[in-house]
Amino acid sequence: MSTRTVLISGGSIAGLSAAYWLSQAGWTVTVLERAEAFRDGGQNIDVRGLGREVLAKMGLEDQVRAQTTTEEGTAFVDDKGRTVGAFPVPGTDGLTAELEILRGDLARLILEALPPEVSIRFGDWIEHVHNQEESVEVDLHSGQKETYDLLIIAEGVRSRTRDSVFAGGVSRRELGLNIAYGTIERTAEDDRWWRWYTAPDRRQVSLRPDNQGTIRAMLAFTSKDRNFASLPPDQARAELRRVFEGAGWQTQRVVDGFATSQDVYFDYLTQILMTRWSTGRTCVMGDAAWCVTPIGGGGSSLALIGGYVLASFLSQAPPQESGTRQSGDLQPYLEQYEQWMRPLIDKAQQLPPGVPNLVYPKTRIGVGTIRTLIRIASLGPVRKVASRFNPVAKKQQELPEIRLVQRV
Ligand SMILES: Cc1cc2nc3c(=O)[nH]c(=O)nc-3n(C[C@H](O)[C@H](O)[C@H](O)COP(=O)(O)OP(=O)(O)OC[C@H]3O[C@@H](n4cnc5c(N)ncnc54)[C@H](O)[C@@H]3O)c2cc1C
Repeated sequence: MSTRTVLISGGSIAGLSAAYWLSQAGWTVTVLERAEAFRDGGQNIDVRGLGREVLAKMGLEDQVRAQTTTEEGTAFVDDKGRTVGAFPVPGTDGLTAELEILRGDLARLILEALPPEVSIRFGDWIEHVHNQEESVEVDLHSGQKETYDLLIIAEGVRSRTRDSVFAGGVSRRELGLNIAYGTIERTAEDDRWWRWYTAPDRRQVSLRPDNQGTIRAMLAFTSKDRNFASLPPDQARAELRRVFEGAGWQTQRVVDGFATSQDVYFDYLTQILMTRWSTGRTCVMGDAAWCVTPIGGGGSSLALIGGYVLASFLSQAPPQESGTRQSGDLQPYLEQYEQWMRPLIDKAQQLPPGVPNLVYPKTRIGVGTIRTLIRIASLGPVRKVASRFNPVAKKQQELPEIRLVQRV
């Protein structure tokens, strides 16, 4: 018998989750990450529902709990900073989840938990994929040619390998929302709440605590024809300053902070929709397959779950005879992975009516209406009902069983 081999392209949450579980299932795993070193960055993300269960199975739940961002809840504020409606953490899996962690911290925890057999290579990437019936051959940028039983593409929303392998099978749903994230200095008036402010002209500002003594800030605005993520970063910052002029509350502090912040990151929110997630010996997962965007929410939980579910079905594949590779023998397991994940993804990609346009009002009257609705939603009984709308937080399916191997 020989162990099956897999190349995972992309070393973030989805790729590392798949690497962890496939290695535990006895596969020989190689991870290829395009960046020169492990990517530590990113803002606050949440882990909910089945994502938490996957973390617990990895034995990482307590470590994540020890590194949470310490956020106590979400408060919507007016231009004077007065709370309009508050959603505290205990008792609801609302906007702030019980497990909130910086993206880089979560990715590092999984990286450090990988079995020693997993090989990770940085600074290299796939140039061409030759997808065959019984194996997949890749030409790497470094000049090497390698052959594997399976290629998993986990390269995030802008994956190039996905676009070339699944050409014609990928569509994008642009949500018309620009978001700039960045880290700014903490001041004495910052607390442990996620404070969220809506300004007229379709603008929002938010400030979140972290566990590193800084504040994670966000500036967001809707526009169907302006995509700041496609601009050179300096130009995007200058335009952002113009767009947020006069927005009120702490906007000026954030704009000034972003002028010197080292990690400002622009996103033009885009969902990825694919007709299928596997072809031959290649499959796709995480944001590369189904990006739900931060508005859909739960992208990191879905990445964790996807790695586990893919590995659990592949772990049911019969062992391979030494020196033989059979065509099509992984296809049924890849299809089961897709059937299991699809309902969860379809729900996460369905945005509530009016999102994002109605929650980014143009006029002061619209802002007033939103604040009234938030006030009502923050009342105890309504808050409990509202928290049930997050599809990733709900556990509608049981995780499939995974066959693990004992290593000697
Ligand atoms: C540095 C960073 C910061 C982020 N910050 C935030 C944030 O603040 N808020 C938020 O909501 N989400 C953020 N995200 C996205 C978030 O991690 C994902 O939405 C979610 O966790 C799903 O993860 P993923 O592994 O599918 O994709 P991603 O996290 O996007 O990871 C994709 C990985 O693939 C690598 N890659 C890309 N192309 C190639 C290639 N051709 N070959 C090999 N490797 C490749 C990338 O370098 C990256 O490490 C960030 C992602 C990264 C990488």
